[in-house]
Amino acid sequence: MESENNMLSARMKELTPYVPGEQPRDRRYLKLNTNENPYPPSPRIKAFLEGFDIDTLRLYSDPLSRDLRERIASRYQVAEEEVFVSNGSDEALSFCFYAFFDSERGPLLFPEFTYSFYPVYCDFYHIAYERIPLDGEYGVNLEGFLGRPSCGVIFANPNAPTGHGLTVDRIRAWLKRYPADRVVIVDEAYVDFGGESAVGLVREFPNLVIVQTFSKSFSLAGLRLGFVIARAPLVEALFTVKDSFNSYPTDTLSQKIGAIAVSDTAYYADITRTIVETRERFTAQAAALGWQVLPSKANFVFASRPGVAGDEVYRRLKERGILVRHFDVDGIRDFVRITIGRSEDMDRLLTEMKEAF
Ligand code: PMP
Repeated sequence: MESENNMLSARMKELTPYVPGEQPRDRRYLKLNTNENPYPPSPRIKAFLEGFDIDTLRLYSDPLSRDLRERIASRYQVAEEEVFVSNGSDEALSFCFYAFFDSERGPLLFPEFTYSFYPVYCDFYHIAYERIPLDGEYGVNLEGFLGRPSCGVIFANPNAPTGHGLTVDRIRAWLKRYPADRVVIVDEAYVDFGGESAVGLVREFPNLVIVQTFSKSFSLAGLRLGFVIARAPLVEALFTVKDSFNSYPTDTLSQKIGAIAVSDTAYYADITRTIVETRERFTAQAAALGWQVLPSKANFVFASRPGVAGDEVYRRLKERGILVRHFDVDGIRDFVRITIGRSEDMDRLLTEMKEAF
C-alpha cells in the first residue's frame, strides 16, 4: 500500500471528491435522487439520431461549438461570443472557479447549504471560501455576502438542495451593492422549473456569470452538456482555460443534439409545465400527510418527516424501492431531497409514505 501511495503526486493526498447520487444496478428503483427529468428528450432528437451519418465521427468536433453557441445565443438573446459550452455544467463551473477566483482578494462566498461541488472546486484550486448562513426560511441570504472581503460569490438559483428561488429584482438590487470588480456566478441549473433567470442582467452587470445545464429541464443528463452566459471578456477567459485542458470537451453529437434541444421550446415548455404541476400537487399532498415540504422552484423538493431522522426516511424508502437523496450534514440532516418524477411516480411515493411512516 505504501509503495502504491508513493506513485501518487503530493497534491492527491489533499483531494476529497464530490460524491454524486447513487446510480444503482442491484435492482430497479424509482429514482428520485439525482434530479433527472422523468420525460424523454425532444422527439426531434430521436429523429436526428435515426438519420445520423456515423462517418461524421471520423472528424474532431468543432472546438468552438459555433452552431450550438449560435442557437443558445439566439434563444437567450445574447451574442455568440457571450456563450460558452462545456461537458456538463460541472465542467463550466470548474473552469469558472479557475478563471475568476483566487483568495488573494478574499475568500469565495457561497451559501452554507448549496451545491456541494462548490467546496470541492475550491479545495481543488486552493481557493479559500466562507459559507454564509441561509435566512430563517432556508433562503439564500444575499445580504450576508455584503460588507466582507471576498474574491467573488456563487449561489444556485433556485438553490439546491432547498429549492428556494430568488427574484431577479432582488438579485439586481443586490448586484448594485456588490463590488463590480468581483465575479458573481448564478448557477441556474434548475431555473426553468419556475425560477427567475438573471440572464437579462448580463447586459447591466459585466461581472455576472450565468451557468445553466442541459441535464435537468432539457432531459439530457446523459449527454453531458452545460453552458455559460456572460460578457465576452469572461467567456474568452473560459476558452483559455478550456484550451489549456482539452480542446474538444463537447463532442459532435452533443453539439448537434444540444442545438436541436434548445430550439424545441414548445416540447420542453410542455414537459416542464407538467413537472411544475406535479411538484405543486405532491407538495400539498405530502403536507397533508404531516410532512414538512419547503416551497420549491426546482424539479425537486426538500422534505422532512417530523420525528423521523432523514437517514431513516431515506432507508425506509429505499427498502420500498424508492431512492431519494440524504445529506449527512449538520443543519439539514432531518431532510431528504426528492426529485419530482411523473405524476404516477409521485402517487407511488405518496402511497409508500403513508405506509412506511
Ligand atoms: N449545479 C447544480 C446546482 C446541480 O445540482 C447540478 C447537478 N448535480 C449541476 C450544477 C451540474 O449538472 P451537470 O454537470 O449535469 O450539468
